[in-house]
Amino acid sequence: MTDQRAGRVAVIGGGITGAAAAFEAASSAESVTLFEADDRVGGKMASTPFAGVAHVDAAADAFLARVPDAVALAAEVGIGDELVHPEKVGAAVWYDRMHDIPDGLVLGVPGNPFALARSGLLTWRGKARAALEPFLPRTSLAPDSIGAFVRARFGDEVHERLVDALVGSIYAADTDRFSLAEIPQLAALSSHRSLLLGARKIAAKNAGTASATAAPIFAAPAGGMPRLTDATVEAARQRGADVRLGASVTAEPDDSRWRVAGDVFDAVVIAAPPRTLVSTLPGADLGAAIESASADVVMVTLHVDDGEWPERFTGRSGYLVPKPVQRDVTAVSFGSQKWAHWTPPSGGQVLRVSVGRDGAPVLHLSDDEIVERVLADLDRHLGVAFSPLEVRITRWPGAFAQYRPHHRARVDDLRSHLPDGIFVAGAGYDGIGIPACIRSGRTNAEHAVRHARTLAS
Ligand SMILES: Cc1cc2nc3c(=O)[nH]c(=O)nc-3n(C[C@H](O)[C@H](O)[C@H](O)COP(=O)(O)OP(=O)(O)OC[C@H]3O[C@@H](n4cnc5c(N)ncnc54)[C@H](O)[C@@H]3O)c2cc1C
Repeated sequence: MTDQRAGRVAVIGGGITGAAAAFEAASSAESVTLFEADDRVGGKMASTPFAGVAHVDAAADAFLARVPDAVALAAEVGIGDELVHPEKVGAAVWYDRMHDIPDGLVLGVPGNPFALARSGLLTWRGKARAALEPFLPRTSLAPDSIGAFVRARFGDEVHERLVDALVGSIYAADTDRFSLAEIPQLAALSSHRSLLLGARKIAAKNAGTASATAAPIFAAPAGGMPRLTDATVEAARQRGADVRLGASVTAEPDDSRWRVAGDVFDAVVIAAPPRTLVSTLPGADLGAAIESASADVVMVTLHVDDGEWPERFTGRSGYLVPKPVQRDVTAVSFGSQKWAHWTPPSGGQVLRVSVGRDGAPVLHLSDDEIVERVLADLDRHLGVAFSPLEVRITRWPGAFAQYRPHHRARVDDLRSHLPDGIFVAGAGYDGIGIPACIRSGRTNAEHAVRHARTLAS
């Protein structure tokens, strides 16, 4: 039997997208080399020991388990049995005081008008406006803005206090200028004439499957999120991939092939953020608009003493702060409530506090200023002037790509202008969440191997 392996593939960028691309390509290419600029793989996944807990994530702490990609990859690279799930505790919204998130929401879109009516989060005026939604004619999707769409359907309060609070905090986004089509659950809902009726059906279906045996929504490796990238890169190595760290590289044309760090490749997957694309491909005339907007975030992790922890917040996973009442903090995760294995052995709680978003820059602040502002906001929200036992500050420049309206059309345009043999993948293009990054990495690796084969034949 002849060896079907053909083609030399380079992967630039060793975040989860590049790791998944290298793993995929290594199953069928003749050779695969993964180049990572940093001295470690993982990109925007990082964890360190904190408060005596071995691995406390400093960025992503979970991935969606209801879409298959990340769970499947974890199983393929041998860490499927290391996955754990968050405790079943609910989040809240702080709007001058703490409010439970009303039942029946689908990414903030109300599906249960009675639960919304009972919630103190909206004014009576806001509730009355939201109640009109099922009677409105279909709303045009043409502007492709989450904010424009949800405001037109439900009014400003539902948008600002629920949808933007939830979606905006997930992506550090200003959802008035974020593509509706790029949030799959909202895009699916927008196909219904009435979002409320659509959300009601989905919420009823979810309630029907919400039993003790229902599959969990989120998962994470117990050893921290970087475990997934590390295991994937290790599995790619076992398939023969070469991994080069500390290698900030460019791809330059070499006849019909590409030269990267002195070696020649048939195809290259660039799994690095879009803002670096032009410098990674020097001389290439892309002839397309590269969307490279992103939001910076700082994650502040605190270890607070049991004596300071307000017992009434035990059993909550954390809370979101809608923009109209936001100062610096956008969201707070009660880490030790959410994850059983994040309980400090000496007692107390781990809190993860997010600062910064699209339109609210944060990186110019010093560490001391950030901590001061975080503690002032926590005092305002929780009524406690914490004196943390330990503080960790992690800065994430370009943390979240911002998909402006009509993002998909711009990505398609960019791809149509890429030179032969170059493929782009990752959070800047095909979805920000980890499963989407994995899918993007693997799909583009397949395209790269296919292209490499055409050169080899
Ligand atoms: C604070 C925070 C919280 C998050 N929370 C979640 C969450 O809970 N769940 C979830 O699903 N997602 C979450 N995300 C999003 C998710 O983590 C990211 O979208 C994803 O990890 C991005 O992966 P990536 O491989 O596409 O890019 P990156 O992780 O940015 O990796 C790109 C890599 O390319 C390297 N690189 C760049 N240029 C070059 C070059 N020229 N040569 C070689 N290497 C280069 C970089 O060093 C980097 O390692 C979070 C993100 C942040 C910042």
